[in-house]
Amino acid sequence: MKGAFNAFEMAQSQFDKSAEILGLDVPTRDLLRWPLREYAFAIPVRMDDGKVQVFRGFRVQHNDARGPSKGGIRFHPQETIDTVRALSMWMTWKCAVVDIPLGGAKGGVICDPHNLSAREQEGICRGWVRQVAKNVGPTIDVPAPDVMTTPQHMLWMLDEWETIHGHRGPGFITGKPVGMGGSLGRTEATGYGVVFALREALAQLGLPIDKTRVAVQGFGNVSQYAIQLFTKMGGKVVSVSSWDQTDQTSYCFRRVEGVDAAELMTVTDPFGGIDKAKAKKLGYDVKPGEDWIAEDVDILLPAALENQVTGESAKRISPRVKIIVEGANGPTTPEADKLIQDRGIFVIPDFLANAGGVTCSYFEQVQSNMNHYWTQDEVLGKLDVKMTHAFHDVAELARSRKLPMRDAAYVIAVSRVAKACRDRGWV
Ligand code: NAD
Repeated sequence: MKGAFNAFEMAQSQFDKSAEILGLDVPTRDLLRWPLREYAFAIPVRMDDGKVQVFRGFRVQHNDARGPSKGGIRFHPQETIDTVRALSMWMTWKCAVVDIPLGGAKGGVICDPHNLSAREQEGICRGWVRQVAKNVGPTIDVPAPDVMTTPQHMLWMLDEWETIHGHRGPGFITGKPVGMGGSLGRTEATGYGVVFALREALAQLGLPIDKTRVAVQGFGNVSQYAIQLFTKMGGKVVSVSSWDQTDQTSYCFRRVEGVDAAELMTVTDPFGGIDKAKAKKLGYDVKPGEDWIAEDVDILLPAALENQVTGESAKRISPRVKIIVEGANGPTTPEADKLIQDRGIFVIPDFLANAGGVTCSYFEQVQSNMNHYWTQDEVLGKLDVKMTHAFHDVAELARSRKLPMRDAAYVIAVSRVAKACRDRGWV
C-alpha cells in the first residue's frame, strides 16, 4: 500500500510466470490477468459532528468460474484499487489451491476506523452494501472481514443487505458473530491453518517442532491464533511486532522465554497494536519494528501486511532461518523471493498458508445456507484435513517438477481456474 510498490503489478507478474510454466493460451492469460468486474463508488456518511464525509469504496470480482466469488473487505487509510485488484486475484488462487468451489473477490474502503465512532463505522458498512447490493449475495459474491474489519461490521452489512432484499440471507457474508450466523472456529481459522501447513512442512524437512523458534511480524487475528496453536504444539515464538498508532511506526517485542499470546493480548488493542509500557512490564524487550526479520530463529512468519519482506530487508534474514510461512497476503516482493529461493529457504506461499480463513468462511457459508451449525471441533477438524491435503498437493508437485513451492501452488491453482473457464466455454 505504500510508496512505489504496486501489489497488482506483483500479482500479475506472479501470474505471468505461472502462465509461462503452464503454457496458457493468450485468451486465457488475458482473462485471468485482470478482474472480471470492478466496482468503485462513493459512500457518503453523516458524521457525529453533523457534517457529511464521502469515503471511497471498492469491490473487485477477479474470477467466479469455479463458484460465487469470495473475499474480505478492508478498512485502511492507504487502500487503493490496485491493492484490492491484487488481493482479489490472490483470493481466486487461494480458493482454487484448497479446492473449494468459490472464486476470488476483494473489497475495501479508504478510511481509518481508529478515528471513527461506532456509529460512523456502521454508516460506512451500510453505505458500502447499498452501493453493491445487487452485485453481491450468497450465490454471487460473498464478502468477509479482513484488515481492520470485524464481526460487528459484517453483521451491520448483513442487516443492510437483508433489509434491501426483504428476506434473511445469512449466507451473504461470513465472519459474522457466533450466534448470529457465524461459525465456531472462524476466529482461529487463519492462524490455525498457517500452523497446520507449517506442521506438515516441519515434518517434511525433519525438524522437530519443539526445537524450533519463530519470529512473527504482526499481532492481529492471524498472528495471535497462529502463536497460540504453535506454542500449544511445543514450539516457541521469541518475538512479535506490531504497528504503534500513536508513534506511527512499528515495534518488535522480544522475550527469550517465549511469547505468551493470550497474556500479550491483554495489553493489545482491537487492531493488534501492543501497548509498549504494559508489554515491558510483562518482561518484553522493545526494539525497532523492522528488526523482526533479523531474529536468530528457524522460522519467520510475516503476518502483518503486503510488501514487508523486500530485496533490502531480506538481506537481514539470519542464516539459521529454514522456513518462511507467509501468514499475510503478498508479504514478499519478487526481488526478495529470488534471494530467499537462492538461499534454499523453504517458503509456504501466502495463498496456501493463509487459506484457512477462506476455507472456514466457506464452512460458515455452508452452515448458514443449511441454517445448521457444527461444533468447533468439527470445523477445525475439517479445516485440518483441507489444509493438510492442499499442502501435500503443492509439496508433491514442487518435488516432482522441481519447482519452488510458490510456483507449484500457482501451477495447481491457475490450472484449476483455467480449466473451469475452458469448461464453461469462456476461452
Ligand atoms: P489485523 O488487522 O488483525 O492485524 C494486523 C497486525 O499487523 C496488527 O498487529 C498490526 O499492528 C500489525 N502491523 C501493521 N503494520 C505493521 C508493520 N509495518 N510492522 C509490524 N506490524 C504491523 O490483520 P489480520 O487479519 O491478522 O491480517 C494480517 C494479514 O493476513 C493481512 O495481510 C491479511 O490480508 C492476511 N489475511 C488475513 C486473514 C484473516 O482471516 N484475518 C485471512 C487471510 C489473510
